[in-house]
Amino acid sequence: MTAPQSTIAQALAQAARRLSLRPDSEPGIEAAILLCHLLDKPRTHLMAWPDKLLTLQEQKRFEQLLTRRIAGEPVAYITGHREFWSLDLEVSPATLIPRPETELLVERALELTPQDTPWLIADLGTGSGAIALAVASERPHSRVIATDRSKEALEVATRNARNLHINNVEFRHGAWCNALPPGLLLNLILSNPPYVAEGDTHLGRGDLPWEPSAALASGSDGLMDIRIIASEAPKHLAPGGALLVEHGFEQGEAVRNILENIGFSKTETLFDLEHRERLSEGFLKH
Ligand code: GLN
Repeated sequence: MTAPQSTIAQALAQAARRLSLRPDSEPGIEAAILLCHLLDKPRTHLMAWPDKLLTLQEQKRFEQLLTRRIAGEPVAYITGHREFWSLDLEVSPATLIPRPETELLVERALELTPQDTPWLIADLGTGSGAIALAVASERPHSRVIATDRSKEALEVATRNARNLHINNVEFRHGAWCNALPPGLLLNLILSNPPYVAEGDTHLGRGDLPWEPSAALASGSDGLMDIRIIASEAPKHLAPGGALLVEHGFEQGEAVRNILENIGFSKTETLFDLEHRERLSEGFLKH
C-alpha cells in the first residue's frame, strides 16, 4: 500500500501536532520553517498553495526533518540558518544560535557609534558573526574586527560576511583580546561571551544542549570570561573607549563591579524588551 499524499495544509497541521509533544517547541512556526526549508520556498508559498500536494519524496524528507526536531535538534541547526538584525546568517553547531535579545547590544553599539566617523570596533567571540556583521552593515565607515577562538566558527562568520557583501569586517583567530592586533586602540569592544554558570540546569534546556558549551558556560559563577575580557580590554581601548558585554539577567551588579574595579567609569546596565538585565557597559576616562 502506498502512503496517501497530503497537501501542504495537511502536512503542516500534522507536523504541528507532532511537534507539540516537545514542551520547548513553537509547533506551528517550526513546522512552517522546516517545510519552507525543504521546499526552498518563502513562507507566503505555504499560504498561497495550501491545497498543493507534496510529492512522496517531499513527505519523506519532511518526516526526517521532523524526527530530528522532535529529538531536540534546534531548528536553526536543521535549516543551517537564523535571522538576526534582519540578516540571514548561516549557523552551525560550531556557533551559538544568535538570540533576539542580543540585538540590544547592537542597538547600544549603534547609539554610541557615529555615522560618518571611521570607528574601530571589536566583537570578541563572534560565533556566526552576528554582532559584528549587524554593526558593520549599519556603520559602513567603521572597521570591525571579529574574533573567535574556534576556527570553525570563524569559517562560518567569514562565509556570512561574504554572502552578505559586508566588507568592513576582518576576522582574527584567538582568545578574547589576544586575538586583537597589538597596538591598535579601539573605540568600542563588544562581546556576547559565555556567561552561564557551569552546572546550571539551564544548560540542559531548549537548544542549549546542542550548542557549543564553550560558548555558553563560564566557570562556577558564569563570570570567568567577563572578568578576563574586562581586565584585558583597557589596553586595547582608546581614551574614552567603551566595553559593552552581554550577560545573564541576574549578573548586572556583579558585572558593573568587575568593570569598576578595573577602572571603567560611567558603568551602567541596560534592560532588554522583557525588562531583564541584558548588558553592562563601562567607559575609559578621556
Ligand atoms: N543567552 C543565552 C541563554 O542563556 C546564553 C548565551 C551566552 O552565554 N552568551 O540562552
